[in-house]
Amino acid sequence: MRARNLQPETRIGYGWDSHEFVKGVPLKIGGITLAHDKGLGGHSDGDVLLHAITDALLGAIAAPDIGSLFPPSDPRWKGADSVVFVREALNRVEEAGYAISNIDSTLILVEPKIGAHRGAIRKRVSELLSVEEDAIGIKAKTPEGMGTDEAAIAHVTVLLKRAGVRKRTGRSAIK
Ligand code: MG
Repeated sequence: MRARNLQPETRIGYGWDSHEFVKGVPLKIGGITLAHDKGLGGHSDGDVLLHAITDALLGAIAAPDIGSLFPPSDPRWKGADSVVFVREALNRVEEAGYAISNIDSTLILVEPKIGAHRGAIRKRVSELLSVEEDAIGIKAKTPEGMGTDEAAIAHVTVLLKRAGVRKRTGRSAIK
């Protein structure tokens, strides 16, 4: 019988998230604040792209998902900066012996138009994940015929490559 391959050369991950537009909160997408008359509601800062990236990273190593690690019922995550979630997922990826090969994403929202902000989002995500900007795909579409004009949606895929086990450098946000 063949041995189970516990640490394959590559692993793929997929994440999806949606948040509703609400008045009175800043719009955070990909770790930056975009000028807009509405933001994304939710327990944390509502950063739909960072949440989908977090779930893609966690999914790639078959770890528990963002809602299990950072439950909305926990007051610690109220208004939380979603960068905390990404860092935890990235730490777990590195502890599992993997590094990010590349990430691709699609945002689906009516407004604001992402084109003007694509470069800034890409730069910020690249900094957060410590990978080159050419390893980060940021695409955007409008939700034609989907009836989701009041929401922002993000789809993310990630490819990990084996990198050898590394000790956690950052402290876990989860006690
Ligand atoms: Mg979310």
